[in-house]
Amino acid sequence: MSDIRVRFAPSPTGPLNIGGIRTALYDYLLAKKHGGTFILRIEDTDQKRFVEGAEDYVIDALHWLGIAPDEGPRAGGDYGPYRQSERKSTYGEYVQKLINSGHAYYAFDSHEELEGMRTRLERQGIQRAKYDASTRMDMRNSLSLPESEVKELLDSNASYTVRLKVTPGETISFVDEIRDKVSFSSDELDDKILLKTDGMPTYHMANIVDDYLMKISHVIRGEEWLSSTPHHILLYRALGLEDHIPKFAHLPLLLKPVGKGKLSKRDGAKFGFPVFPMEWNNPDGEVYEGFKEAGFLPEAIINFLAFLGWNPGTEQEIFTNAGLAEAFSLKQVSKGGARFDFDKAKWFNQQYIIHMNDAKLAELISQDVVDAGYDVSQEYLTKFCGLMKERAVTLKDFLSAGSFFFQKPEIIDEKTIRKKFKLENENHIQSIIETVFVIEDYTTQNIETAVKNYIGENELGFGAILPILRIGVSGTMKGPDLFSTMELIGKAEVDERLRSNLVRFKEIKLIQKENQADA
Ligand code: GLU
Repeated sequence: MSDIRVRFAPSPTGPLNIGGIRTALYDYLLAKKHGGTFILRIEDTDQKRFVEGAEDYVIDALHWLGIAPDEGPRAGGDYGPYRQSERKSTYGEYVQKLINSGHAYYAFDSHEELEGMRTRLERQGIQRAKYDASTRMDMRNSLSLPESEVKELLDSNASYTVRLKVTPGETISFVDEIRDKVSFSSDELDDKILLKTDGMPTYHMANIVDDYLMKISHVIRGEEWLSSTPHHILLYRALGLEDHIPKFAHLPLLLKPVGKGKLSKRDGAKFGFPVFPMEWNNPDGEVYEGFKEAGFLPEAIINFLAFLGWNPGTEQEIFTNAGLAEAFSLKQVSKGGARFDFDKAKWFNQQYIIHMNDAKLAELISQDVVDAGYDVSQEYLTKFCGLMKERAVTLKDFLSAGSFFFQKPEIIDEKTIRKKFKLENENHIQSIIETVFVIEDYTTQNIETAVKNYIGENELGFGAILPILRIGVSGTMKGPDLFSTMELIGKAEVDERLRSNLVRFKEIKLIQKENQADA
């Protein structure tokens, strides 16, 4: 195992959306490329935003997508626990170190006092009030208060937070694997809270302690965390861990398909596509559909997501998981936002369906077939998938477009019957039905030869006969090869359909004639 260790660190505040999955995927790909370890860490220090079921959802989604973590709350590992809420005492120790070395301090300000500071500064024309070197001495903290008072407050169990003491006038630079060199002035940074009044560390504190203790080599995360990184660098320095700073890569935003802004969970309903990997039942009763329920294959989603912000620098688009890992590099990740393109997702899915083994497809749709109340053999289903797969964009399309393989269809396409069916050909259609019915070996080839010979011998023209047979068998002009369809549906059933539908076609024609006479 190489020492490349990449973590995915979601907060369980709701279902993981497709943007989060992309981050997890890039983590996974980088780890796999180098024979390293992909780690899942649950960042649940914000108990107010904790959502029941969100952690299981993340893990189930990663498993379904085929990018399961090597280490994590379910997988275990040598660096656990992998839930931050279970590591509380560890953080305390590091917070104490920072206080002892003068890099952090206790702050006793109440909510009202903090509000008061904000209004005071706003009155002076300062819009974004910050708790920092310019304001901290006006507040109630262990830097501004006499030592005896601080001791008294701590002894009396007064509520406090611990803040990082940021020194102004410094430039903090780091190399981002995607953006190259990034610099921030410490004047822009506030004295971030490291420990909250409930004794829990904030994201910043817990994040860097865990990245250090879990020996994380690369931090890949969304662009929205870029501005937190200088604080993290300061924390590593203050703890004397400068040599352990991981490599950072901040990913471009996932943008809405049209218009401005980041893809949001509301966009799914708005644009009519899923933005979650799997179905999520929100505690408020709302249900969000996932790619899984919409009939997408995990491999296709992975391939699609890999390309949302990255490209291999070649024309190749279809990649296996292993192929992606091999080709992946952070250097090829774009800096600009990546637009979510649902048509492209469908294209990938279609490609994966076409190239998938028929028996495997049959397995994937078998539950839907049972749920629809159809009872067919595995062999039948496999052949059905083979015939239909060129026409399916999602797994759902098999049943919605191919229901006539399981039940006698409605005549959907009356229009073609009105246009193509000639009453004078009725006897010919009748004869074809009989010719086909006596075929002993009812194969695609034999049916095709019999039908085509009949048409040729009687000089009828394919256009006058084949559409009638097709609609007679399947109710529609849309479907796979007619003769293969007939073979699979079987002689007796085809015969029954054609005979009864011929009666129906005659009715359609007679009504048409009456209407024409009336007009
Ligand atoms: N818990 C943060 C999130 O929810 C993790 C950010 C990071 O990867 O450092 O996105």
